Amino acid sequence: IYLMGIETSCDETSVAIVKNGREVLTNQIYSQIDIHKKFGGVVPEVASRNHLKKISYIIEEAVKESKVSFNELDGIAVTYGPGLVGALLVGLSTAKAMAFGLHKPLIGVHHIDGHISANYIEDSHLEPPFICLVASGGHSHLVYVRDYGKYEILGRTRDDAAGEAFDKIARALGLGYPGGPLIDQKAKEGNPYAIKFPRAYLEEGSYDFSFSGLKSSVLNYLNSCKMRGEKIVVEDVAASFQQSVVDVLAHKTIKAAIEKKVDRVYLAGGVASNSALREQVKKLAKKEAITAGYPSKILCTDNAAMIAAAGYYQYKKRNIADLTLNAVPNLKLA
Ligand code: ATP
Ligand code: MG
Ligand code: FE
Repeated sequence: IYLMGIETSCDETSVAIVKNGREVLTNQIYSQIDIHKKFGGVVPEVASRNHLKKISYIIEEAVKESKVSFNELDGIAVTYGPGLVGALLVGLSTAKAMAFGLHKPLIGVHHIDGHISANYIEDSHLEPPFICLVASGGHSHLVYVRDYGKYEILGRTRDDAAGEAFDKIARALGLGYPGGPLIDQKAKEGNPYAIKFPRAYLEEGSYDFSFSGLKSSVLNYLNSCKMRGEKIVVEDVAASFQQSVVDVLAHKTIKAAIEKKVDRVYLAGGVASNSALREQVKKLAKKEAITAGYPSKILCTDNAAMIAAAGYYQYKKRNIADLTLNAVPNLKLA
């Protein structure tokens, strides 16, 4: 089964062709980061316009690289939410036009279902059930994956998403955008225990997250340093902030696996690229004889291969959309 995946929910325009949900034949990703950088964040109108400029060209490139012709495709899988409505509509309209013109099935995919499914590409033997920590620019979910596409959300953020917290603290430290990778880099030269920032474990038994208290604490620390004329060691602030986020994420992920009696935990979303998070989850998992995994960096960022991977399991269930499928900016996962 050859599925084309199309992803335009935020600022990556991506088209992929994936065989049997696991084998990536091509995964074309055009990031608009350089365009949005000067605004310090993604500008929705600018994102839509640039998706529109690039999408046809990227589809042609995907067909060229994979050597899979339009006629050989078995279906088109596309992200229809959540995301920026104008951005989503570019990918969705393109997918609908292709499905209609080529007489191929259309499959609507939830963006987070895609992020989670990136793990099926990375680990070709992975099967549910497992625990997945989804940490990205807009989401922080702790998910129990019962079956392909069947999710039970154990916890979610009560305020900022993990990636959002990284981006905001990076901005306060003057590191630039997007902040996650920059904090990760700086933190490598810093002491993660130099500054005591709070860890929000919340009520006993809760799998929810909260990062706003930590964010305020870091901002207060920076302000009081400035007021007292003390030197700010950016590396130490980055490392200490990061450690605080990572401790909570990793602890709750392992705890969920123990409680749900599953022996596998996986990471997903942009923050799954974070080197400290990867290390900490692996370390805690090992102690409990749990297997830990995560997608390679390119599959952690927004990409269409993960959308085709998620689409494959819907295709197998004959979960086919019709041409009335619309973009849903706040689409729920479960
Ligand atoms: P969503 O998937 O929730 O709709 P999104 O698609 O914008 O949001 P992703 O592309 O999945 O988000 O992830 C981007 C986020 O990941 C950004 O906030 C970025 O700072 C963060 N990120 C990327 N690399 C790292 C890293 N090494 N460490 C921490 N955060 C990172
Ligand atoms: Mg992005
Ligand atoms: Fe994403």
